[in-house]
Amino acid sequence: MNKYDVIIVGAGPAGLRCAEILSNSSLSVLLLEKGDTFGDKVCAGGLSRKDLGVIDIPDHIIEHKVTKTAVFSKKRNSMTNAPEAFVFTLKRKELGKWQRDQLKAENIEAKTNTRVTEIQSDHVIINGIEKISYKYLVGADGYASIVRKYLKIPQEKQLIGIQYTVPAPNLDPRLEIHLCSKYFKSWYAWVFPHENSFVVGCVCDPKKMSAKKLKDNFHAWLKEKDISIEGAVYHSAPISYDYRGYKFGNVFLVGEAGGFASGLTGEGIYQSLVSGEVAAKTILDNNYVSEEMNAVIRYNAIQLKIMKFLYHSGIFRKYIYELIVILLNNQRVKNKIHSSFS
Ligand SMILES: Cc1cc2nc3c(=O)[nH]c(=O)nc-3n(C[C@H](O)[C@H](O)[C@H](O)COP(=O)(O)OP(=O)(O)OC[C@H]3O[C@@H](n4cnc5c(N)ncnc54)[C@H](O)[C@@H]3O)c2cc1C
Repeated sequence: MNKYDVIIVGAGPAGLRCAEILSNSSLSVLLLEKGDTFGDKVCAGGLSRKDLGVIDIPDHIIEHKVTKTAVFSKKRNSMTNAPEAFVFTLKRKELGKWQRDQLKAENIEAKTNTRVTEIQSDHVIINGIEKISYKYLVGADGYASIVRKYLKIPQEKQLIGIQYTVPAPNLDPRLEIHLCSKYFKSWYAWVFPHENSFVVGCVCDPKKMSAKKLKDNFHAWLKEKDISIEGAVYHSAPISYDYRGYKFGNVFLVGEAGGFASGLTGEGIYQSLVSGEVAAKTILDNNYVSEEMNAVIRYNAIQLKIMKFLYHSGIFRKYIYELIVILLNNQRVKNKIHSSFS
């Protein structure tokens, strides 16, 4: 039986970041990805300045550095042009490729087309045949995590995200946020600018609105907004925000496998990077304490409170959205937002 100190299941942002931190350590590391590429996934491809604070993404894979935002409620809108970029867009495949390229160290072995099909307390089975033993196991295998199932940790809180990638040359690169109570309740629709295309999408909790209803509402909203989806590519995927801890003895759950995404916005790359990094640092030093991880957990908890407040505000939600946009148009608020970017 092959033996490794650490087996990481899944090579999304969380697994790749975990492997990068373990590079050049004395530990032997095996990173396993069931897909044929690293890091590709249904995603709007939007990063914030927080993400770039964790990994130093080079300019050549960034498609747009966005300074302009437009926030819409039913009756109003608020336009902002910040002095510095605060949103960055890229293709997930490119991010995965770049993260993979960071793994040059000899102690790291990374394999694609390798699915973990079974887990036991000291080994995994890959592709239904080969046994490989581990000392530490990191579940970075996303929403339908086999590692989470092995730990018998339920997965109850989720969003469903749906989106179209629409061809669009000569695009004015701005981020759009649409607060529309009628169609998306306490969630929202977004438009992220990409190279020669934009991604328009929305999320919601399928327990509060079925996936079919969300799709119908999304189409009704697209029609109302006169957004054509001709030639567009449709994708959907679940997003887990059911966080219940990340360290379970010698087994870790990071990224969406650990339920680290936001239940309000569906954003999850930043949380995946941080949790992947923290798992690696904890493997290297059992006493490692991370302020960033606590900050991520606090951030997600606040987002959840906002989501619940908006959800339960029912018929008042549309007025809250109008108020938010009025506030965003207030010069003092605008100045404050701008100063936080300079
Ligand atoms: C429509 C939509 C739009 C989104 N937009 C954004 C956005 O703009 N910004 C943002 O920050 N977040 C966004 N997200 C969320 C973001 O995509 C995820 O939170 C993020 O990808 C999670 O990273 P991860 O590394 O935890 O898991 P993943 O990226 O899901 O990676 C898990 C990997 O594990 C592999 N795997 C799974 N099972 C096995 C197995 N048994 N064996 C081997 N490998 C396995 C998978 O193939 C996959 O590559 C969006 C999500 C959706 C659905």
